[in-house]
Formats: sequence, structure tokens, C-alpha cells
Amino acid sequence: MSEPGAGDTATEPRAPEGRPAARRVPGAFIAGRVLRPSTKVLPEHARGHNRALVLQTLYTAGQQSRADVARRTGLTRVTVSDLVGELIAEGLIVETGQRDGTRPGKPATLLDIGRSAFQVLGIDLSDHSVFRGAVLDLAGTILARAELPLAGRVGDDALATVFALADELLSRSNRPILGLGVGSPGVVDPDGVVLEAPNLGWTALPLRSLLAARFGLPVVVANDANAAILAEHSFGNAEGDTMLVRVGHGVGAGLLLGGGLLAGGRFAAGEIGHVVVGTDGGDECSCGKRGCLETWLAVPRLEARIRRAPEEREAILREAGRRLGIVLAPIIGALDLSEVILSGPTALLDGTLAESARETVRERTMAEFHGDLVLRMTTLGDDIVLRGAAVMVISAELGVS
Ligand SMILES: [Zn+2]
Repeated sequence: MSEPGAGDTATEPRAPEGRPAARRVPGAFIAGRVLRPSTKVLPEHARGHNRALVLQTLYTAGQQSRADVARRTGLTRVTVSDLVGELIAEGLIVETGQRDGTRPGKPATLLDIGRSAFQVLGIDLSDHSVFRGAVLDLAGTILARAELPLAGRVGDDALATVFALADELLSRSNRPILGLGVGSPGVVDPDGVVLEAPNLGWTALPLRSLLAARFGLPVVVANDANAAILAEHSFGNAEGDTMLVRVGHGVGAGLLLGGGLLAGGRFAAGEIGHVVVGTDGGDECSCGKRGCLETWLAVPRLEARIRRAPEEREAILREAGRRLGIVLAPIIGALDLSEVILSGPTALLDGTLAESARETVRERTMAEFHGDLVLRMTTLGDDIVLRGAAVMVISAELGVS
């Protein structure tokens, strides 16, 4: 493919291996950063942090008075009033009315995030046959949808399809746009460069900067499993140190540890799909090895196996779950995870496969520490990456999640 981003990659600092060096992008979603601000910070960082603190308090707890916000954040009432005034002027906070007066004195005015004042565009590139998009409000509610069939497009043609989908979403929005979030398959660096996405034929594609230049919007691009775990963090019930495993065309995972997303030194944390399971060989994988987790678990492989031997469906799913459990056990042991969430086709994953994975993990980990580990399906269904893409934008632009 030609290199639409050659102009800007050429000027980027380069790491010794020839990859673009990691650099912080002002305002961009930063993997590894603690997601929810909860305390005051030093004066030099105070204003931006305190704005996020006020927004996060309203985002999490819902309607509050200025005095409630001051009490919850530890900020002074004067600081809160000042920040709230600024945020009301920007449309990010709205006054919603008076609290019913059971207390003496003037009834307090309630505030909330302006959840419908702005819209966010989310795009999910992780399905092998279709690119899906949505317009969402700041509460993560999907307001409109659009999708374009991929029809085998790769390289520049796949990129053109992303542009067309973003155009379509823009035409369906009717509020100021806070930004565009994209969940992409493959390995994505913190600057939104898709380093490797074999199924789309992308290598070192600067997707974030290409989209930002074309649409003039803040854009955040991350791996689809990382987007998905952020959706669980904001809209699901993910608590504590959690891993989310996405099973689709391939297999990948996102890790939320210590309140932040784990990126890894090469931005490939969670890439468990090409880890070989066991020492007994297995089918040949697209990467050239034999017996990778993907060969046991990826949806096309499972479907093909079940098609060939429908009467062995349960045994096939049990074996896939066992292989997943074998890969998960040492990760759970090393990281002391409290939860593993599965995202993918419910008909394949829920039931026999998940139960077999659970059993295998139980057999292979220390009961006194990991016996209460929860391994469950996501409750967010097929919209998990779209909603996670919106979280990335809201987190990058407003500091809340
Ligand atoms: Zn492989």
C-alpha cells in the first residue's frame, strides 16, 4: 500500500528499532494513567486536575450541589464555584433545578454533567466483515448507528472505508462533537499508530493523525480489547484488577491494573492470541507457529470445527475453554487478578466453554488467593468496543471515565 502518513511519520522521533518512539500527545488518552482522579494535587497541575475532579464527581455520583462537590472532592467552595462557572459556560455542566427543601435555609441548586450537550463518535474496526460506528452522548448512550461492509478491503481501501464511516456518523450527529474514538484490531501505540493489524493489511499506519487531520477533531485510537475493558470500567461492573479477553476473528486481551490500563513496553500487553498452549502441538496458526491460543479459540476456527463434527460440539467447546484456562492461570497467578471478563459470541463462549475455562483455572491456581476469582461474560454485548471508544474520548478530553 502507499503511505498516506509518510509525511508525518518521517518527522517523528524514531526508536532504535526503527519504530516511531512513544511520545505523549497533549490531550490524548494515555494508557497507564490512573483513570479516575480522586484527590487534590500540587498547585502547578491544579486547575486541569481539579476540573477533571469536579467533572468526575458529577459523572460518577450524578446530581450534586456545589457544596456536595466541595465536600466530596476536598476542594474549597470558592474553587468549586469558580470551576463550575467555567464549566457551565462551556456547556459541560448544567444546573438541573433546586433540591427539595427539607433542610433549613436557601435550597441548593443541583448540578450535573451536560450529558446531552456534546456527542462522541465511536468506531469499531474489530469485526472481520463490517466496520461499525455510533454517535453517543456523554453518558455512553448510543443515539445513532452506521455501518459499512468491509468486503475484503485491506490497506488504503480499508482506510477509505473508515473515513467514509466517520463522514456518515458526522452527518448523523446534531450536537458539538467532543471527539472520535476508534477501537482497532492489532497493536496500537499511544499516539494512535496501528503498528500491526494483519487482517486489515496495516503496518505503522498513523490512523489517529490521519483522522485528526481530515476531520479536525480530537481523535483517540486504541486496540479493541483495551477499548472494551474501558467500557466495562465505565458502564459495566468491572471492579479491581481485571482482564478482558476478546474472542473474535483473533484473540486479544486488555488489562486494567491499579486503576489504569496496562500498555506494555511495546504496546502489546494482552496479546495472548499467539501464545502456544501446551506442548502437544496443534493446528498451524497464521503466525507460522503451531497450537497458538487463537487456533483453539478464534471464532472462525471454532465454527469450522463444529461444522465438521456437529455431534462433538460440546467436546470442542470444552477443549477450547480448557486451553483458554491454561493460558489464563499463570496470568491470574502473576497479577493476582480479581476478575476475567469474556467478550465475543455468547452462543459459543457462554456455557460449556466458560465453565471449562473456570474449572481449569481453579485446578491450576492457588485456591486460598484465587478461589474467588470471577470469570464471566460481559454484560455490554456487541456494543462494547463502540462504547469503549467513546470512553477513550471522554477520558482524554474531560479526564473522566
Ligand atoms: Zn499464532
